[in-house]
This record gives sequence, C-alpha cells and structure tokens, in this order.
Amino acid sequence: MNVQQVGVIGAGTMGNGIAQVFAMKGFEVILVDVSDAALQKGLAAIGNSLGRLVKKGALAEGAVAGILARIRPATALASLAACQLVVEAATENPSIKESIFRELDKAVPADTVLASNTSSISLTRIAAWVSQPQRVVGMHFMNPVPVMQLVEIIRAVQTSDDTWALVYQLSEALGKTPVTVKDGPGFVSNRILMPMINEAAFALYENLATPEDIDTVMKLGMNHPIGPLALADLIGLDTCLSIMDILYHEFRDSKYRACPLLAQLVSAGHLGRKSGHGFYQYDAA
Ligand code: NAD
Repeated sequence: MNVQQVGVIGAGTMGNGIAQVFAMKGFEVILVDVSDAALQKGLAAIGNSLGRLVKKGALAEGAVAGILARIRPATALASLAACQLVVEAATENPSIKESIFRELDKAVPADTVLASNTSSISLTRIAAWVSQPQRVVGMHFMNPVPVMQLVEIIRAVQTSDDTWALVYQLSEALGKTPVTVKDGPGFVSNRILMPMINEAAFALYENLATPEDIDTVMKLGMNHPIGPLALADLIGLDTCLSIMDILYHEFRDSKYRACPLLAQLVSAGHLGRKSGHGFYQYDAA
C-alpha cells in the first residue's frame, strides 16, 4: 500500500512528535484531538521543536513552513477517512482507546492500517475492538519522538504479515530503527525498564542511598545515560505506576508489585517533571 496521508490521534507529548516526524518526511498528516485548545498546544509544540532543530543546524529554516503546512488539525475522527494509516496516541486509558477504535472502525476504509502507540495496553485486546483485527499493530515510539531512534513494533495475535511489513517499512522511512516484538505485558521495552525503575524506588524506600547516589550507581557503574529515578520523573510517576500495575495484574506475579513509595508519590500529586516534583524537585511546575 502506498501511504500518503497519515492520521494521528492525540496531539499530546507523543502525538505531536509523531505528527512532526511524518510531516518532516513529506507525509500529509491529519492531527486529531478532542478540542481546538489541545490541537493548538500540540501545533505550538511542533513549532518549538522545529525551531530547536533549525537552531541546531539540523533543519533548513525554509523547510519549516512546508512541514507545518502538511499538518492539518481536526477534531473529528471522520476527517481520517482518506488516510492509509492511522496512529493512535491518545491518553493511556483503555476505555478512551476502546471508544476511539470502535469509532475508527466505522470512520476509515476497511484496509486502513490502525496502529496504536500504547505503552502498556495489549494490542491483541485493541485489535478485538475492530472488525478487521488483522490491520491492527503496535507502533511504540519513544519520547521525545523526533530524537529517539527506536520504534517497537508490536504484533498482536491477529496482526497480518502485510500490516506488520507496512509499519516496519514506514518506520525505516522515518529514519527510525524498528524492532519487532510479540504482544505481551509491557512488550520488551517496559517489561525490562519498569521493574528496574521500580527496584530503584525500592532502594530509596529502604534508605539504601540518596536518589542522587542511586542514579549515580546506574550512570557511572552501568553506563546508563540517565539514572532510573531521574528517568521515572521524565516519564511521569503516574505512568510508571500504571505500567507496573498492568505487569502485576497480567502476570499475577508478586515480583511486579509496585513499590509503595511510587504509589505514595503519585497519591501526593508528585508526578515527576510535569508536576515540578517527583523523586527530585524541579524549578518550574
Ligand atoms: P498526553 O496526555 O500528553 O496526550 C494525550 C492526548 O490525547 C491529549 O492531548 C488528549 O486531549 C488526547 N485525547 C484524549 N482522548 C482523546 C480522544 N478521544 N480523541 C482524540 N484525542 C484524545 O499523553 P502522551 O504522553 O502523549 O501519551 C499518548 C500515548 O502514547 C499513550 O498511549 C501513552 O501510553 C503512549 N506513550 C507515551 C510515552 C511517554 O513517554 N509519554 C512514551 C511512549 C508511549
């Protein structure tokens, strides 16, 4: 299938980054969110991101207007009717995603490929919400999308070879490196990353060391570019907690129990960088 027009659902952190990388490679993008305010915020983030690339010398200033012109905002899923691919990057909430996929099923042609950027919801479950489940696949971009190289391609039980091949090749066309994994709780990325972050939270909970020292052990001892507690603050502690809960419930294995400190910080509204306070304190909320 020749993909020219791509729909992106959700103009938040991930959706605006996904729209940006497709538009930078010449695809026509329709960016959908629930309100004009959310769309304007997403478009402003794309403008800022492109501005940073120009400043770094990674993008010609003259290219910016063309990229922005390729991204059309919309508030209705019906606007996606001419898309060959839709990437869903809405809020990580199963009931929100279920209503989006059930509506998408009616809004786009039967052969439009439907990808989800979910971090933790089973793609096999998502595929069961549409009438041609073989066209559903996970396209798990990393944050920040314009910078990070990886796309984790998740094959649901129902995903066809054609669907998989299309998003694999498109990821390469975006200049990314795709890695294929089977559907399973946390896929590969969060199956490994989240228990490590959770263990770092336990180390702090048990007062083994300060947050700075725990992160320094992993940075200098294991050559990680960022410590697990600082990374958790970047991802959002609420997101980390919800992924741990999914691993725990789906495997029914106590080794995935969330650290009480993580749950406590989330209850206190200390969600990491986005709230100005997590394992660390930040200047601006
Ligand atoms: P976000 O909260 O920044 O943005 C979500 C956007 O979805 C919001 O703008 C919201 O208005 C919109 N939205 C909600 N319901 C909608 C609907 N019915 N139709 C259209 N838009 C709707 O969230 P995010 O961090 O961008 O996460 C989006 C997805 O990407 C989630 O599935 C998340 O798990 C996944 N993800 C996030 C990260 C990360 O680091 N933030 C990394 C990888 C994957």
